[in-house]
Amino acid sequence: MIVGKDFAEELLKLLNITNKECIVKLNNRKGYSETLYKAKGISKIILCDDDSKTSSIITAAHEVGHFINNRNNYKQYLIFKLGNLVLFSIVILAILLVGINQYIYKIPLWILCGIMIISFFYSILLNTIKINDESGANKEALKVLSQYADIIFTSSKDCRKWELIRSETMEQLESGLQKYKNSSWIVYILGLSPTIVYILLWIFN
Ligand SMILES: [Zn+2]
Repeated sequence: MIVGKDFAEELLKLLNITNKECIVKLNNRKGYSETLYKAKGISKIILCDDDSKTSSIITAAHEVGHFINNRNNYKQYLIFKLGNLVLFSIVILAILLVGINQYIYKIPLWILCGIMIISFFYSILLNTIKINDESGANKEALKVLSQYADIIFTSSKDCRKWELIRSETMEQLESGLQKYKNSSWIVYILGLSPTIVYILLWIFN
């Protein structure tokens, strides 16, 4: 039976994506598979813990979906890519201002409130973009699987059929997205951290 890596490579071939645009690599440890997208240069799909299970085929298709989704929505990808850095910068700046206000020099309240609000709303925006990136990859994965899975299974003499793995695919993609959504609170707490620091300093001083 075909393994995820070969399946991803076959998919890329059928989509006319050359190995100058994207390659597939294996990482033989447990963990998350990922796609390192590059607009100029070679993107890398890294598959963890790969085998011939249907779940690995679905993961491979999801990662190919990331490549297509990032290529088609490059601006969104850039915001996504720079997003973490921008959020960290805003949060650190906001916490610095809160500290300066407390110990060194009174800063007008509207400036403090402004940056705390920006920090929180930016974390919401960033999280929405991240979830869109995941769900975009899922949509592309479904599209390419419904179109090419049978061709790949037949050519590699694998007895699986798209019809038979369709419901497992939907479940796995949906639960992956749900896991992502469930971890949103981490980003929100980060966005709220300047406000939390402000309130704590206010209470304990
Ligand atoms: Zn993903």
